[in-house]
Amino acid sequence: AAPVGTAVRPDSAVPGVRRLLAVASGKGGVGKSTVAANLAVALGKRGLKVGLLDADIYGPSVPTLLGLPGRAQIEGGKLLPMAAHGITALSIGMMMAQDKAVIWRGPMAASAMMQMIEQANWGVLDVLVIDLPPGTGDIQLTMAQKLKPSGAVIVSTPQDLALIDARRAIAMFGEVGVPVIGLVENMSMFVCPHCGERSDIFGHGGAEDLGAGAGVPFLGAVPLTMALRAASDAGEPGAAPEFEGIAERVSVGLGL
Ligand code: ADP
Repeated sequence: AAPVGTAVRPDSAVPGVRRLLAVASGKGGVGKSTVAANLAVALGKRGLKVGLLDADIYGPSVPTLLGLPGRAQIEGGKLLPMAAHGITALSIGMMMAQDKAVIWRGPMAASAMMQMIEQANWGVLDVLVIDLPPGTGDIQLTMAQKLKPSGAVIVSTPQDLALIDARRAIAMFGEVGVPVIGLVENMSMFVCPHCGERSDIFGHGGAEDLGAGAGVPFLGAVPLTMALRAASDAGEPGAAPEFEGIAERVSVGLGL
């Protein structure tokens, strides 16, 4: 097992892609997709060529987060990632109607994820960010074993309920030999827009403490804000300045 927080693998297993970065969470609803999309765009603003793959097959959020409601085209037998906000992206949501549910067993969902990597024309990328489904199931394992990502970022809220599962996710990546680049604490605090009082709705500092205990670097905290929620629904990433620092630490962690 690879120790956490160590140097990343030098090259990704996907031709043309320098680094594969998995964004994961132990639990759903902690803001993993929001972090993945904003981080990808922030990495792009640093001058890197960035792709974002939505591997959250059962709950694809990337088309909404990036404001890409259309369908992905196929050219020369390969899927063409769609461009927005300085990056390119692919999602199962770009291939089917929004009101259709994906009712697949694990292996099919894992193979859909692999198709969006291997049968797509991503071109040359510095980093391909993979927004994984929550938890530690089939898709996460297939991705870790077949694609050998350069590193993983784990998203958690400061709540104990989420941190317990974040710890499991750290352990899973350790077992399959994927270095954990660090932890992002999302919904870290709430500042009341009326009175300015700060409330730690889900607690505060839990992810930093977990990181310190597990030897995983802390990448930064993102507050719970109306602006980020509204920007996410509007498909306008970039509303939270905290992602600039997080992107800087991630690119250092990836050796980019
Ligand atoms: P996950 O991918 O972990 O299931 P999402 O990224 O879909 O989580 O986020 C869950 C919900 O919380 C979404 O409605 C999203 O817009 C909202 N959200 C996530 N992070 C924040 C934040 N920091 N501030 C405000 N809303 C947020």
